[in-house]
Amino acid sequence: MDKVQFPDIQLSLYDPAQPRTFDLVVVGSGPSGLAVAERVQQAGFQVLIVDPNPLAPWMNNFGVWIDEFRAMGLEDCLDHTWDRALVHLDASPEGARYLSRPYGRVDRPKLKRRLLERCVASGVTFHRGKALDVTHGGGRSTVALDGGVSVSGSLVADATGHSRKLVEFDQPFNPGARPAPWPALPCALALPPTPLLLLSLWPASCAVGTCLCDKATDAHLARAPRSEQEAAAMSAAVWRAMWPVQRLRQRAFFEFGMDVLLKLDLAETRQFFAAFFSLSDHHWHGFLSSRLSFLQLIGFGLSLFAKSSNAARANLLGKGLPGLVVMLARLTTLK
Ligand SMILES: Cc1cc2nc3c(=O)[nH]c(=O)nc-3n(C[C@H](O)[C@H](O)[C@H](O)COP(=O)(O)OP(=O)(O)OC[C@H]3O[C@@H](n4cnc5c(N)ncnc54)[C@H](O)[C@@H]3O)c2cc1C
Repeated sequence: MDKVQFPDIQLSLYDPAQPRTFDLVVVGSGPSGLAVAERVQQAGFQVLIVDPNPLAPWMNNFGVWIDEFRAMGLEDCLDHTWDRALVHLDASPEGARYLSRPYGRVDRPKLKRRLLERCVASGVTFHRGKALDVTHGGGRSTVALDGGVSVSGSLVADATGHSRKLVEFDQPFNPGARPAPWPALPCALALPPTPLLLLSLWPASCAVGTCLCDKATDAHLARAPRSEQEAAAMSAAVWRAMWPVQRLRQRAFFEFGMDVLLKLDLAETRQFFAAFFSLSDHHWHGFLSSRLSFLQLIGFGLSLFAKSSNAARANLLGKGLPGLVVMLARLTTLK
């Protein structure tokens, strides 16, 4: 018997004997899935969450910057807080650096209860099952589950975390790559695929939930698309809302930064982080919280360069220039 951590929470369960099509099927009841389901249901749509055991304990640990958690109104869902964080840039006593940014460990049962209760209160439906596959056609997306059951929705959101069960990628998966936009999903179907969203890093899912609700108000999500053109327009609208040009630019910068980081050896990596944590709070807090706009990221990069030693600068130039050229070329293609 699977472990149930919240026996007192009464979920509204889906009855496969009485099939119906939901506006949104969310696969996975981790933090992302619960957050987005509640938001979309709150906006007046019918949402189904599918998970092998929605009432099971969360296994992952979550450490968070307290200012970010406070901004989401979840400050009371922490079981331990620290006034400052400590990073070790190397093994020497001088390598230890305190960061003046309070940090906390999330109280997982409390947070899960909070999000589950919000879902229950807003009317989200649940189904215990493991998603195996998704197909698109007949104006809806159908998720095949174990046990021979299937569920349908106008839109399916993949919130299966690391397993990324349903999303296809336009290149071999690596954690820095974005999931493929809709045209890369299989096309030999009666209708083009309806959008499939990949949710991860659950604070971002709240934004996605809001974006889905916005799209829904244009009647994009309110019903299944009636034609190929409408399905294509719906896919494109959701994709554009999730990835506006500003975010694509930000993403290009992050990929450039990650490429440089991966080229550094241990000593160079330590030099890099020594410079990183000497940046202003605005820059390093903002960078880690993805709050900096592309222009601010340029300022961040220049500031990082200025804070680096001469040897580190030479390294960054040597190892970063090819990636910089790639990023600039990519920026010219974004629209
Ligand atoms: C060891 C570890 C430490 C971490 N530390 C931090 C940290 O300090 N700070 C931080 O912010 N993040 C941390 N993370 C990352 C964080 O855990 C994830 O970003 C977060 O859990 C993502 O939430 P999620 O809802 O997208 O996915 P998950 O929490 O992974 O939830 C996925 C859900 O999908 C369900 N599922 C999976 N496959 C299927 C399927 N086929 N059908 C139906 N349901 C399915 C699962 O049962 C699960 O309920 C850590 C992760 C790990 C593993």
